[in-house]
Amino acid sequence: MKTPQPSHLAFVPFVSVSNMMKLVHHIGIERFLADLADYIESDFRRWPEFEKTPRLAAHSPVGVIELMPTSDKTLYGFKYVNGHPKNMREGLQTVTAFGLLAEMDSGYPVLLSEMTILTALRTAATSAMVARVLAPEGADTMALIGNGAQSEFQALAMKALCGIRKLRLYDIDPEATSKFIRNMKGLGFELYPCKTPEEAIEGAQIITTCTADKQYATILTDNMVGAGVHINAIGGDCPGKTELHPDILKRADVFVEYPPQTRIEGEIQQMPADFPVTEFWQVLAGTAPGRSNARQITLFDGVGFAIEDFAALRYVRHRLHDTTYYEPLDMIADPDDPRDLFGMLQRSRS
Ligand code: NAD
Repeated sequence: MKTPQPSHLAFVPFVSVSNMMKLVHHIGIERFLADLADYIESDFRRWPEFEKTPRLAAHSPVGVIELMPTSDKTLYGFKYVNGHPKNMREGLQTVTAFGLLAEMDSGYPVLLSEMTILTALRTAATSAMVARVLAPEGADTMALIGNGAQSEFQALAMKALCGIRKLRLYDIDPEATSKFIRNMKGLGFELYPCKTPEEAIEGAQIITTCTADKQYATILTDNMVGAGVHINAIGGDCPGKTELHPDILKRADVFVEYPPQTRIEGEIQQMPADFPVTEFWQVLAGTAPGRSNARQITLFDGVGFAIEDFAALRYVRHRLHDTTYYEPLDMIADPDDPRDLFGMLQRSRS
């Protein structure tokens, strides 16, 4: 089955969870992460071409539901995503998502996709795309604090893009670390489970924090962070939910996706409104410096931005070509006579 050219068709290709899993295995997970990072990087390089807005969030005491829209001249995309740290204790995912891509020309959707798996892949690809530029040269060891749903994806992306081979693991729940080790055995890592976060960061050139807790948590304190490391902080991603002590932010050079959103949701929500940050796209564009010396602490305050999801949907759409990993979804009412919507409804009775 060929992927349809949907602008002239009434049905929308839909990528279900099972088809997304097949697509990832068809491509190979590390290849998928590396290709996806290239798509995200190419969209970061043309950052000024996008319509941008902080995400639209509906908060409750236990979580958040968000819409993340963006568009360029030809395509429009959005993702629906939630973040509910208490879900995991109830046997549910902390983060679930789906997303849609549409043509700017006609407004017709061209792809609807599951994005729970795709969000983990795009978050990891983004983290590694940033670390590829900012991490110290020759980095081969990463501390991974928080060994939940995102963690394996983070590890594999850092391996595929940055050459990470040694992982130092910590989670408040040792079961999470055991699950991680089960999943990652035989995939080319040396794995070191640790009893404390202090032990986990020993000798690590990259520190990834991906914990989930709806509070101002202090996963890392200032005295734990040595000169020269790159911190990839992705768990603090909504108001009232952070992972780092503010003193770390004062010592580090902080890189962000979209400042109006990160100042609301990221680690820097703890800092004054004029706290200096660098937009990462500018480093790629060569208009802002990245890492300039071996003692510098670089910090990616990653909250996840709509352009990363847009790039991920673009990538999936491209890779669907010549596969059968989608179902045609009868989602758009499309009468032969565009003005006769009612007639189409009536004819369906017979
Ligand atoms: P998860 O619930 O599956 O895993 C979180 C893990 O953190 C759990 O194993 C938990 O035991 C552990 N943890 C909690 N507090 C800890 C602490 N103080 N020290 C060590 N470990 C601790 O969640 P997930 O899906 O892996 O997501 C992790 C975080 O990443 C969430 O906060 C989520 O909102 C965020 N996230 C961010 C992005 C982004 O783009 N920045 C994307 C997806 C998810």
